[in-house]
Amino acid sequence: MGMRGRLGELCHRSGMLRMLQRVRQWGRHDLRILAYHRVLTLAERSHFDFDLDLVSASAEGFREQMLLLKRHFRPISLTAVATAAVAGQPLPPDAVVVTFDDGYDDNYRVAYPILRELGIPATFFVSTGYIDSGLPYDYDWLVHMILRAPAERVAIPELSLELAPGAGRDARRRLAGEALSRIKMLDGEAQTALMKRLERDWGMPRGGGHPDCRPMSWKQLREMHAAGFEIGSHGVHHRMLAKLSQQELEFELCESKAVLERQLGVPATTISYPVGGDSAFDDRVVDAAITAGYQVGCSYICGTNALAQLQRHALYRLPVERMMGLGWFDAMLTLPEWLSYPTSRTSTEAARTECSP
Ligand SMILES: [Zn+2]
Repeated sequence: MGMRGRLGELCHRSGMLRMLQRVRQWGRHDLRILAYHRVLTLAERSHFDFDLDLVSASAEGFREQMLLLKRHFRPISLTAVATAAVAGQPLPPDAVVVTFDDGYDDNYRVAYPILRELGIPATFFVSTGYIDSGLPYDYDWLVHMILRAPAERVAIPELSLELAPGAGRDARRRLAGEALSRIKMLDGEAQTALMKRLERDWGMPRGGGHPDCRPMSWKQLREMHAAGFEIGSHGVHHRMLAKLSQQELEFELCESKAVLERQLGVPATTISYPVGGDSAFDDRVVDAAITAGYQVGCSYICGTNALAQLQRHALYRLPVERMMGLGWFDAMLTLPEWLSYPTSRTSTEAARTECSP
């Protein structure tokens, strides 16, 4: 759990968080945006062959978090934030937005019924090229291949990585984590080429899909949208936008927007930049997102957003992580500058080292 987690639990148990929340409110007027990926109760961690770091909470944990959010904070939609920002209107104190990245089918199966029951708005950012495909996401498949490939084949010279002889599952997990960090340093084309090579050379094509890593369908997304939830863009192919040519960048932004609008019948105005750290989006990406017609853009950099200077196309978020107990979650929401889960600015959606203000 680490120092922050223990401190968070301690603050929660002290019973002082509500008082501290009021004190903080006098001096700070900011917007908190929670970032989730997957909501999933893992029956057996050792049988889960995908990226564990993307499991943000169990079903029970998520429900408790949402109940706490409803009790002590003000859940609002991202569209409400955008509307208020454009109109120059204030947001309510303690406003919190709930967001999900990628488009895993557990968002529909597990998170959506809980949110609907509790009446909490949320935005689901999806990579449109994966929807209806049944195919696991690139980075997840990389983890899967490293965990499952025959040991003698696991060498990735492009990332200067190789499995040590006799390495067990934990060592494979560590190698997979390192591979995720390193692949994100490659340019977009090299990332795609590496994935194709590994699938071919290791004999692990992802075409058959996998029940533990499935994207949602358009039917599910239309149902969620009809129930009042927002569906935003997370690009088409989940590519790191800052690493793309201008033409590819515009395709990812415009095509995902057009597909969402065609499928859902309403303007798509929100985006979260895939991977979301400094190496995944920059001023060029933000300018292109504005030109494409997005009103709001979310990063994956840890922090809250000062309402006085809301950077609505480069919003900070607060990642929620699987090992975060309810006490830490409460403390993180209440005192995010001290108790949030730090993300690395340079890669993301996984690697963590520092927390931006
Ligand atoms: Zn993502």
